[in-house]
Amino acid sequence: MMEQKVSAEEIKRVKGLGFLQDKRYPDVFNGRVITKNGKITAAQHKAIAEASEKFGSGEIAMTVRLTLEIQGVKYENIEPLRAFLAEYGLSTGGTGKKVRPVVSCKGTTCQYGLIDTFSLSEKIHERFYEGMHGVTLPHKFKIAVGGCPNNCVKPDLNDVGIIGQRIPTVYLDKCRGCKKCRVESSCPIKIAQVHEGKIVIDPDACNHCGRCKNMCPFGAVTDYVDGYKIYLGGRWGKRVAQGRAMSKIFTSEEEVLSVVEKAILLFRDEGIDGERFADTVARLGFEYVENKISG
Ligand code: SF4
Ligand code: SF4
Ligand code: SF4
Repeated sequence: MMEQKVSAEEIKRVKGLGFLQDKRYPDVFNGRVITKNGKITAAQHKAIAEASEKFGSGEIAMTVRLTLEIQGVKYENIEPLRAFLAEYGLSTGGTGKKVRPVVSCKGTTCQYGLIDTFSLSEKIHERFYEGMHGVTLPHKFKIAVGGCPNNCVKPDLNDVGIIGQRIPTVYLDKCRGCKKCRVESSCPIKIAQVHEGKIVIDPDACNHCGRCKNMCPFGAVTDYVDGYKIYLGGRWGKRVAQGRAMSKIFTSEEEVLSVVEKAILLFRDEGIDGERFADTVARLGFEYVENKISG
């Protein structure tokens, strides 16, 4: 088939729909299929494979942010492909100065997971990726949800990152200063230590992984608070910034969703066109931003 010329405006428009031009051809695109939280059904998987054979080159590439790119889609196949995917509840997109597709780890099923990452990510997807689709931001806005401080999906390198937490409470009166302390030996980062006959957990060094839960046979470390840590202003790429954790550990999903919403709205209202959220936070001051979006 002859190659056809696609206008610059059209290339821009279809990019907004999640179709990125293959630099090798003027009329061939890769269509980005959104997976909501990185989890799709077998039927959807089959549909994406079928769509790739029908409308693309029969190949699928996985992106680092949990979307699937159908390769080799000719310009005229873009709309038929979108219609086909819609029948299976799938859509394309994920580009532009908007909330980007959420990245979630498999904390819901992972042995270390402390929160239901799939469920929270799906809610974030529905409320902010879909719900704020018409909202143009100063730059792209990336959100990641991780189930525990192992940070497999690097939440702290996203504009907003959420990490599951389990915070121990120590009852010193119950601690017997055992020779071989099971809390101490279960702590993967070795910050729980018996000192002068009592267990010491430095609250600033503890990453709240909860791995010491149920380890003490005498009830010195039995109560834990489950929650969410939220990092603001991380980024990865041309310029790197590590996000900074908000001082409060949030204990309900609704609170987390409210903070994420306020962070996006603050970025929309107070960010300068072209700057990432990390720059907005640096410019306005972390305390100001934290104050404005918490509670
Ligand atoms: S971050 Fe934690 S919960 Fe998520 S996949 Fe890694 S180890 Fe599992
Ligand atoms: S925390 Fe428990 S296991 Fe560790 S020294 Fe105290 S009583 Fe013993
Ligand atoms: S919660 Fe994790 S980091 Fe903190 S003391 Fe327990 S095992 Fe160590």
